Amino acid sequence: MDKDKLIDLLRQTSQEVGVSLTTSKLELFWLYLQELLEWNKTFNLTGIKDPADIIIKHFVDSLTPLPYLDRSGRLLDIGSGAGFPGIPLKIGAPQLQVHIVDARRKKTSFLKHLIRTLELKGVTALHSRAEEMEQPEQPFQIIISRAFRRLEPLIKLVSPLMKPGNMLVAMLGPTANKEQSRFQALASVENLEIKQTVVLDLPQDRGGRTLLFLQKR
Ligand code: SAH
Repeated sequence: MDKDKLIDLLRQTSQEVGVSLTTSKLELFWLYLQELLEWNKTFNLTGIKDPADIIIKHFVDSLTPLPYLDRSGRLLDIGSGAGFPGIPLKIGAPQLQVHIVDARRKKTSFLKHLIRTLELKGVTALHSRAEEMEQPEQPFQIIISRAFRRLEPLIKLVSPLMKPGNMLVAMLGPTANKEQSRFQALASVENLEIKQTVVLDLPQDRGGRTLLFLQKR
């Protein structure tokens, strides 16, 4: 697929998840795609290699929480890998202050390079294990994570970093209805309350997803 077709695909499928991207944002995603494909030749940052798949399963998937989020404030993305969902969220909502943490240096090296190349302001990539993160001086209104830990260890890890009112967004795969009551039980142990559950299908049959929004009491 050529550039125009891929950009059209991104424009269309992001709209399907409720996010409309301007031409300049679409161009940033195009640059992101080029850098990811280039670095992936050497570093294996993502197993997903087909450009259309990267667009839907990484870029658009990462944007799915955006319609439900406050578009300003401080956001922490834990175990971001090649930048998901932190970088797409930053491109989609430039006022967000985005902090990205990953324990693998090749990932944070890529992210630092990407941030420079895309000239993104108000986003930092930190090479650290999440377990070793200190209590932030200013709280993060949103802590988000995709495909990093199962819900239970994620909640245990993140909850100490949260102040009352802060939100943890867990991006999960397809979940069964019966799992939802288990989620509530897991959350309440750490004084979190499930504020919202969004069940969705990625465009073009790329799979089911669940977004859990957990607020600290
Ligand atoms: N969120 C990305 C990557 C998921 S893979 C996505 O959805 O595509 C999990 C990522 O977590 C990897 O990049 C790995 O390097 C990172 N990771 C693993 N253990 C970690 C830890 N203890 N602290 C921070 N990051 C970690």
